Amino acid sequence: MQAVVVEEAGGEFQVVDREIPEPDPGEVRIAVEACGICRSDAYVKEGTYPGVSYPRVPGHEITGRVDAVGEGVSTWEAGDRVGVGWHGGHCFTCEPCRRGNFLQCENGDVTGLTYDGGYAEYATVPAEAAAAVPDALDAADAAPLLCAGVTTYNALRNSHADPGDLVAVQGVGGLGHLGIQYAHAAGFETVALSRSPDKAELAKELGADHFVDTTETDPAERLQELGGADVVLATAPASDAIESVLGGLGIDGRVVVVGVPGEPIAVDGQTLVGTRGGVEGWASGHARDSQDTLEFSSLRDITPEIETYPLTEVETAYERMLENEARFRVVLEP
Ligand SMILES: [Zn+2]
Ligand SMILES: [Zn+2]
Repeated sequence: MQAVVVEEAGGEFQVVDREIPEPDPGEVRIAVEACGICRSDAYVKEGTYPGVSYPRVPGHEITGRVDAVGEGVSTWEAGDRVGVGWHGGHCFTCEPCRRGNFLQCENGDVTGLTYDGGYAEYATVPAEAAAAVPDALDAADAAPLLCAGVTTYNALRNSHADPGDLVAVQGVGGLGHLGIQYAHAAGFETVALSRSPDKAELAKELGADHFVDTTETDPAERLQELGGADVVLATAPASDAIESVLGGLGIDGRVVVVGVPGEPIAVDGQTLVGTRGGVEGWASGHARDSQDTLEFSSLRDITPEIETYPLTEVETAYERMLENEARFRVVLEP
């Protein structure tokens, strides 16, 4: 099979021929139809994540069809349409797993980091890491939903926002353009916050009720004019942007961080005390969360905006993602 390999931390992508992997007991083999390229793939390329070993095939936004199952797998069979995201499987026995917190598993795997991922024609994954993909979703559209999609969908549905509440999505990019669609479909009064005024029209098309150009308008003041935000979904990984919305929270408002800034976020305690507000974080979801995301996306016709490339153009595709030139997610089609 053809696969894209990173030979060492900081190494280039190599397109190579490899043996098609056999599924171990408890695993399924997926004939990959699409795999998204995510900013987190830089962890593999640059070796900045603990526990990554090399050579490694990156890719944690995989969709395709099961084409072989390992011993003991009863949940999937050849021909099933499946997808796999960041969460690459769990042990079922550690304390977090015993409480059902599979995402926090102490022995968990990360797809494309702790084992080979989807920048290849085939990938083997633990059976519990796979989500069913609805027939109506295109494989390339579904791929980014397994990371950017589940992250925003799951963060919003686990927030305390109810239909009609004021929910702001900060950043209209890879995560944000999905977050706006989910917020709108969930019945929230949806605000898009962006430093790019040229995204106003798109944000409205995606379902935003309000657009705030934060280079012109103080986002905290605007959110207060609108009644105060119940939730701000922070998708842009910039501390100063996150800090600029804290004053826009309503009573019991929450800033939910899903795009991780490289530096700490400064929080004014008085602001939080005054509103009983909070700043919290949310990380993607497990396979069933991904399946819920795919089912809801299919139901409400929510898709990402994508650019597709063959495996041989991985370098170009990755650069488009890295330089924020892609609109908005990049997907490889092996
Ligand atoms: Zn990702
Ligand atoms: Zn565990």
